[in-house]
Amino acid sequence: MKISSIGLTKICFLLSVSLCIILLFLSPWRQHVLPRPLLVPACNLTCARSYLESQSEVTRLSTAAQDWKRNHAKSPANAGLKDDPRSSDHLRLDDLFIAVKTTKKYHKTRVDLLLQTWISQANKQTFIFTDYEDQVLRQRAGSQMVNTNCTAVHTRQALCCKMAVEYDKFVLSSKKWFCHVDDDNYLNLHALLDLLSAFPHNTDVYVGRPSLDHPVETLDRVKGDGSSSLKFWFATGGAGFCISRGLALKMSPWASMGNFISTAEKVRLPDDCTIGYIIEGLLEVKMQHSNLFHSHLENLQILPQISLLQQVTLSYGGPENRRNVVRIPGAFSLEQDPTKFKTIHCLLYPETSWCPQKKRLPFLT
Ligand code: UDP
Ligand code: MN
Repeated sequence: MKISSIGLTKICFLLSVSLCIILLFLSPWRQHVLPRPLLVPACNLTCARSYLESQSEVTRLSTAAQDWKRNHAKSPANAGLKDDPRSSDHLRLDDLFIAVKTTKKYHKTRVDLLLQTWISQANKQTFIFTDYEDQVLRQRAGSQMVNTNCTAVHTRQALCCKMAVEYDKFVLSSKKWFCHVDDDNYLNLHALLDLLSAFPHNTDVYVGRPSLDHPVETLDRVKGDGSSSLKFWFATGGAGFCISRGLALKMSPWASMGNFISTAEKVRLPDDCTIGYIIEGLLEVKMQHSNLFHSHLENLQILPQISLLQQVTLSYGGPENRRNVVRIPGAFSLEQDPTKFKTIHCLLYPETSWCPQKKRLPFLT
């Protein structure tokens, strides 16, 4: 078969173009241009969601986001990343609305410690939802303290009343994320921002730790007539959870202006469970399971020391289980720091005035 010289030129041209495309895809330069979280296969929302679904993926994404930030910052082209407008993909504290649920009897014993530690780093973004007009707390927290006027009891109705006020206040803010924690949680703001930044922009996200190892099944008394059942996962409130703004707004028919209380009443579920019911059960948005959130329902002593500073939330056992605290060495005695929150805080923010050690421990950096 005879190939004309024009045909041969065409073949050569096509071969070199294909070679260039292949080289471009294999080049290490490309890995620096594309942040790793965006390596979620180019696909529609549902596909991206299922990619993010498993617990290990969420953790992996968080690590990937950190890796990417480190690699990106190392590149000379990105020196001074902090001031670089291209880094605006990474969330800032100001994008968050953090709700702390508390009650009168815990202002001194729990909230004081939070104000001294992590809340001091996010004063403006954190709101303390309580049930008593405590003048001492008001002096310290000003308008960041929200008196919900809900009853000061540990009942489903009272807790749902607080969640309803938290939700409504978040909706009125213009923040991108709603995060809820209890007053016995240490919230690691760096780890939280890393985790949330790893989710693709503008997707519906509900992330936290499931409190059970199986979904809850309940009769559908809201969408249906109660004859069929709904299965859903929910994030345990005691470990903290976050919801993206877009998703929170979609919850509005069942959650805003007092509707949260009536939804919880209809399904007869606690506050955190009702959130899962609305998101997974009614809106059919899957919860992202993360093992970076921790409540005192789990054994906190077995968390590996090396990973403690990467956890989004930590907690501690109550009076009935004082030994359930994270194991971490530090300058404070158990009497000085029974919850270990001060030790954790000083490792994250060694420059804090009351921290004894001014340098980070090398094994945890
Ligand atoms: N809480 C409340 N009202 C109460 C009792 C507790 O708002 O009457 C809050 C408390 O401040 C905490 C959360 O509910 O943020 C969980 O309470 P606790 O840690 O005492 O109980 P748990 O359910 O974790 O065992
Ligand atoms: Mn608790």
